[in-house]
Amino acid sequence: MPVMELKQVNKSYKVNGGETFQALKDVNLSFKKGELISIIGESGSGKSTLMNLIGGLDSDFQGEILVNGENIRDYSEKSLVQYHKEKVGFVFQSFNLISHLSVLDNVTLAMTLSNVSKADREKRAKEILDVVGLKDHVYKKPDAISGGQKQRVAIARALVNDPDIIIADEPTGALDSETSNQVLEMIKEIAENGKLVIMVTHSEKVAAYSSRVVTIDDGRVIDDQAGNALIVKENKYKTEKPNRNKNLSLLGSMKLALLNMKEKLSRNILIALGGSVGIMSVILMLSLGSGVNAYLTDTMNSQVNPLVSEVHMPDEATGNETEINKLQKQNPLLGLSSAASFETENTEELAGIEHVESVEEGFTNFSVGSSKASFEENTAQFMSITTVSSMITSADILEGELPNEGEVVITENLADTLGDVLVGKDIQIETLINEELLDLTMTVSGIYGSEGGMDTVYLSYENLENALEEAGGELAPNIVYLVSDDADATESIKAEVERLEYKGSSTEALADTFSQMLDIFTYVLAGVAGISLIVSAIMILTVLYISVVERTKEIGVIKAIGGRKKDIRRIFVSESFLIGLFSGLFGVGIAWGLSLAANAASTHYFDVDIIILTPTYAIAGIVLSIIISMVAGLMPASKAAKLDPVESLRRD
Ligand code: ADP
Ligand code: MG
Repeated sequence: MPVMELKQVNKSYKVNGGETFQALKDVNLSFKKGELISIIGESGSGKSTLMNLIGGLDSDFQGEILVNGENIRDYSEKSLVQYHKEKVGFVFQSFNLISHLSVLDNVTLAMTLSNVSKADREKRAKEILDVVGLKDHVYKKPDAISGGQKQRVAIARALVNDPDIIIADEPTGALDSETSNQVLEMIKEIAENGKLVIMVTHSEKVAAYSSRVVTIDDGRVIDDQAGNALIVKENKYKTEKPNRNKNLSLLGSMKLALLNMKEKLSRNILIALGGSVGIMSVILMLSLGSGVNAYLTDTMNSQVNPLVSEVHMPDEATGNETEINKLQKQNPLLGLSSAASFETENTEELAGIEHVESVEEGFTNFSVGSSKASFEENTAQFMSITTVSSMITSADILEGELPNEGEVVITENLADTLGDVLVGKDIQIETLINEELLDLTMTVSGIYGSEGGMDTVYLSYENLENALEEAGGELAPNIVYLVSDDADATESIKAEVERLEYKGSSTEALADTFSQMLDIFTYVLAGVAGISLIVSAIMILTVLYISVVERTKEIGVIKAIGGRKKDIRRIFVSESFLIGLFSGLFGVGIAWGLSLAANAASTHYFDVDIIILTPTYAIAGIVLSIIISMVAGLMPASKAAKLDPVESLRRD
């Protein structure tokens, strides 16, 4: 029974302008096991066309090519892949070895595509390389061996899956006569070992090796003659059929991608660096945003007792509008606190909030130009007189202690203006509260450290109340402090205060607004930085397209030895995955390095880390980079998968 039969095979190529060119005309041939067939004919007579049809690289023909009774034209993609993996092995004139793979990897590739275990495929590849006499060259790259050796690698590659048919298109066309003879001997032996070998040649001498010579002219078989009968020999090239019911694994494709990237290492490093710029900028912007935000929040919180919530009366409750009230309304920057007073019912309502342990009454007053403090001959204006509360802790006091009756704490800046060593000294305070002029002599008990805050004099509520009564006035609280029994409950207390339509701390409200603005600003900046991600994506796209063009031959080879479209796509997508991974790693690495430098500087000057690069940002950055790169890689990868193997292999 013939291994292969061709019946009325016709093949025409479409040429420019819708015309066709008939390259094969009514070819009828039948091939048996153990035959060595030479196909001879002039250049352009259709020999390669015939080989491509027989090898299943081109299914666009009329007629039948029967293998085991089935026309290979009608094969599904799966059967065709199976045919390439198991039935045929190719040997090409120009060797078509993959230059970035070692001799060993070139031979194992066919098994890698079938996901044969590494140990198994290396063992088998080494065996077959030993048979073709390349034992000592297995780890060399194709560039480092001679033409004859390259062709022997190609023969080993064709044999390694133990196919029934070997197709060799001018296998000695690129070799000198001595190596040609060696290669031909080898091919002859392969046929003698029982395989069907179909070899194209235009050398009469080569034809003399064959058991049969088929002559083609202008697409027609014009002669078919028996040559020297082959003596059947013991199968020296026999290899066990590997277990290959599987396809290229993800790991296998990663490894292939990695080997290719290693070959063009400097280029790939540059691409990854280029790709990392976008990721790096986005990460840095976001991290800078959280750094600045954290700094602000910290600064705010450091002045605030976490157990205490500051409460003001709502604006509209301002029944007894004072001068200062009016001033504040016209000029809100002077202070956002309302000067409206709390009634007993208000304080009771607030005291009823869950987790509120105590309610402290307080008073704060702003004035411009009407409050001054003097010590000896120095006089300084101050803006606010405020009662002390649990909000101020001794941690806020730089020097001295919190005030008792007859004592005040003043802010650092005010103290600096008044004199050098003030703690323990008496100063004179003049201020206008509720339209009563107060003129008090008070002892400075401490200095309050508030950077950038307004100049303030602090004294106890009782002290202020007594002083005001003596002057004929009356003090009502215009601020209360809710002390919580649990720091974690402070947030819920603040929420409840808001729900009851009181106002919270004005500084906190300001800080919130500020931090929201900062967030928006951060996202806008990150978005702008994100534009460079698009540039990276386009760059990766271009590079992968170039890679597809460069590797056209390799793609052809992979298809010829049984690579599916999916496998090829997978190899390229793996490559874009790796580029994305490396870009991401570089991006995060560089961002991290820059953040270290920036933080060293900001710590030196402001005692704060200005860039907070969280692991979340780092991981998100790497994932984003991989996604972008893989999306960019999709188009080139499917272009590669669609390449026509005949076209790809023809290219030189
Ligand atoms: P050989 O291998 O015998 O030198 P080929 O089989 O390569 O010849 O080509 C046979 C004929 O078919 C030639 O005339 C060639 O120009 C033509 N041909 C081959 N491939 C194509 C193609 N893709 N498109 C159009 N014509 C082609
Ligand atoms: Mg040819």
